[in-house]
Amino acid sequence: MVTAHPGLPEFDYVKPATLAEASRFLAEHAGEARAFMGGTDTFVRLRDGAWKAKYLVDVKHLEGMQALAFDPAAGLTIGAAVNLNRISAAPEVRLHYPVLAEAAGTVASYQLRTRATLAGNACNASPAGDTLGACLVLGAEVSVYGSAGVRRLALKDFFRGPGKTALQAGDVVTALRFPLPPAGYAAKYLKLGRNAIGDLAIVGVAALGYPDAAAASGLRFRVALASVAPTPLLVELAALSAAPVDETALAAAAEAAAAASAPIDDVRGSAEYRRLMVRNLARQALTEVWRQIAA
Ligand SMILES: Cc1cc2nc3c(=O)[nH]c(=O)nc-3n(C[C@H](O)[C@H](O)[C@H](O)COP(=O)(O)OP(=O)(O)OC[C@H]3O[C@@H](n4cnc5c(N)ncnc54)[C@H](O)[C@@H]3O)c2cc1C
Repeated sequence: MVTAHPGLPEFDYVKPATLAEASRFLAEHAGEARAFMGGTDTFVRLRDGAWKAKYLVDVKHLEGMQALAFDPAAGLTIGAAVNLNRISAAPEVRLHYPVLAEAAGTVASYQLRTRATLAGNACNASPAGDTLGACLVLGAEVSVYGSAGVRRLALKDFFRGPGKTALQAGDVVTALRFPLPPAGYAAKYLKLGRNAIGDLAIVGVAALGYPDAAAASGLRFRVALASVAPTPLLVELAALSAAPVDETALAAAAEAAAAASAPIDDVRGSAEYRRLMVRNLARQALTEVWRQIAA
């Protein structure tokens, strides 16, 4: 039972000097220490009593955490502590990965986005995370500094359930990396919330499509769905590669996306409503993408 508290419980603030020190401290205090960046999930959950932490480990200032760089040969790197407003405004993101700028801009409010980060959205592993669909369709990877060194995890394998990730004790996420997007691609994120701003998604749909001469239809599409399964869900729409794409084929693909979802009833919407909204938003997003790549 979660009870609302008037203030934060006591904790020790820890500011390690290096990634190695942060990782060691988190590993040595597994279960009682938690890394944080913007704190927009962390402090709310601590205040509400949903999470307990004896130590909060600030990792924002550590090496590479504030980097945002585009390499025309390798793609985009976004340091874990880069806030969402910076991502939305970054020329590199707006030019090469506009769907990421768009999705980042739908999280909460402008004020909150000056603190909230992309990596925090991923590590929080909420099925409703607004940036995660865009990250999934773009093929993002998570860079991790852990006890056994540095490693990269595909974001599609990162989520293990609501609030659960593949991170282990002592792991610190340092960046999200995005490969070069496919030539001629287009992508779109559509969010349905109870309010225009400041609310979690009832349903979120990110769609991406691109020309591919190796596909029978000459095109490939995928969608990622938020708030309709225990984890953000990536769905490859193979049927749209196998046969010519038209409005009927897109409607069938949207039905397939809805069938792949596994929503629940909650305060924001019923499972049935969510499934219908996946169908409608997927159809809308896919159609917008198709018009751009087929133009
Ligand atoms: C009023 C309000 C409205 C919101 N609206 C939305 C919304 O519309 N859409 C949406 O998607 N989210 C929303 N959120 C949730 C939140 O703002 C986002 O999930 C945000 O992106 C979290 O980023 P952060 O940097 O603040 O994360 P933090 O709170 O710092 O961390 C989040 C989680 O990640 C872990 N973590 C942080 N940094 C690291 C690291 N480097 N390595 C390993 N683990 C780490 C923490 O331990 C914690 O479990 C809202 C929150 C509030 C309070």
